[in-house]
Amino acid sequence: MKNIYHSDIYKFNSPVNSYWEDTSKENFNLEKLTKNINCEIAIIGGGYTGLLCAINLIENYNLDVILLEAGKVGWGASSRNGGFCSFPPIKTSYKKLQKIYGKQETKKFFKNAVEGSNYTKDIISNYNIDCDVTGESNFIVAHHPNKFKQIKEQAEIYKNEFGIQTEIYSKEEFNNIGHGGTEQFGALSYKPGFAINPLKFVNGIAKYALSKKLKIFEHTFVDKIDKINVSYNLKTKEGSVNAKKIVVATNGFYQEGLVPQLNDRILPVISNIIVTRQLTKNEIDLHNFKTFSPIANTKNLLYYYRKLPDNRILFGTRGDFIGSDHSNLVRSKIMENFFKNIFPSWSNISVDYNWRGLIAMSQKLTPSIGKIKNEEIYYGFGYHGVGVASAPWTGKQLSKLVFSSNSKDLNISKIYKGLPKKFIFPKLRIFYFRLAVLFYNIKDKLNI
Ligand SMILES: Cc1cc2nc3c(=O)[nH]c(=O)nc-3n(C[C@H](O)[C@H](O)[C@H](O)COP(=O)(O)OP(=O)(O)OC[C@H]3O[C@@H](n4cnc5c(N)ncnc54)[C@H](O)[C@@H]3O)c2cc1C
Repeated sequence: MKNIYHSDIYKFNSPVNSYWEDTSKENFNLEKLTKNINCEIAIIGGGYTGLLCAINLIENYNLDVILLEAGKVGWGASSRNGGFCSFPPIKTSYKKLQKIYGKQETKKFFKNAVEGSNYTKDIISNYNIDCDVTGESNFIVAHHPNKFKQIKEQAEIYKNEFGIQTEIYSKEEFNNIGHGGTEQFGALSYKPGFAINPLKFVNGIAKYALSKKLKIFEHTFVDKIDKINVSYNLKTKEGSVNAKKIVVATNGFYQEGLVPQLNDRILPVISNIIVTRQLTKNEIDLHNFKTFSPIANTKNLLYYYRKLPDNRILFGTRGDFIGSDHSNLVRSKIMENFFKNIFPSWSNISVDYNWRGLIAMSQKLTPSIGKIKNEEIYYGFGYHGVGVASAPWTGKQLSKLVFSSNSKDLNISKIYKGLPKKFIFPKLRIFYFRLAVLFYNIKDKLNI
């Protein structure tokens, strides 16, 4: 199988050196697959999508499911994201969605996105997961005075078209309840929204799945899938699985070659995070950083940040284009400058952690849920960096699809359904992305 990025980013055997790994020492130590076994449904990928699909297949349909994960359970983006439970999972505007799919489907899409956020909240309470929930809404901060008008319009559309609870704060008002800094010119809040410790969340889900007798194999990378009559044979290094149906839940960590019909459709993009040392109350007050809710700004290449429960600041943005450990380090230094430019009074605050991972984008610019034509292979991916609310929900939708084997049965917005187009000259995907970044960088410099 082919990697799009440097092999450093696919070191399945070791977890990333994240802040989250230092807050939770839970280790399931599950066995790897070392024999040949049979099952009804094999799920590839043990993040939010794969785990929730498995749990729903077992609980609602009593099916025989196994899950194969290349690293430890949750190794991918699900254990290392920023923990922002936000929506919608798109990299396009609602206006464009309305133009392509119509008003009704766009309305339904936003309704589904809100359902996703509520589903994540329900999982936390129903599975009894202690994952350090903070905040009561999401904030979008205008990073330039030009952008205040834009968030006011967004607040109106969210409220009037999609029934989403929103509020607008002037620069002064947000300084009192949110934060200050050089790039704060007012903000919009929308609900539902909150923040979590993503590793504790995925571990809690895995614990629940194990209590429901889901068989999970860790450190079991699926190398190859062969079709034998009406079933599939999934080959791993030391064993194999015969399954009637397969769910591909690998999102940004999908490697080209696994399923021909999925090849060349996903653009994995690196997202990087830095976390500062703990700040004292006096230091926090220098920027009036009051809120524990997740925040994103209005840049095209957006910054996302939040105050963690122990008064550290987590700050994230797009990563580098290479994926090596070295390029990660270089990028984290650049990000530290971004962070300190918007919060200059913290220029002497050191950074304790930096790490990165892969998100999945596609030409659709929205998620993709479905079944491959004439095959019993199902997929759910492409959350565009917004998977805490949408990946578990997608897992649940996938379970219904797998059970019925019929995508027409799925009562969700059409915007989710079906595969994105293949990239033309797919080897140039990262180059296309570089060009897009260049373009958006210029727009951000001009504040448009
Ligand atoms: C740095 C970063 C920050 C983010 N921040 C946020 C955020 O704050 N809020 C938000 O909503 N979203 C965020 N996201 C996105 C979010 O984490 C993802 O959308 C979500 O976790 C996707 O879940 P998943 O289960 O589909 O995929 P993943 O969690 O990535 O899981 C896929 C799994 O598939 C496994 N796999 C791949 N290939 C194989 C194979 N051949 N055989 C076996 N296993 C395989 C991988 O090991 C991996 O564990 C962030 C992502 C990153 C990387």
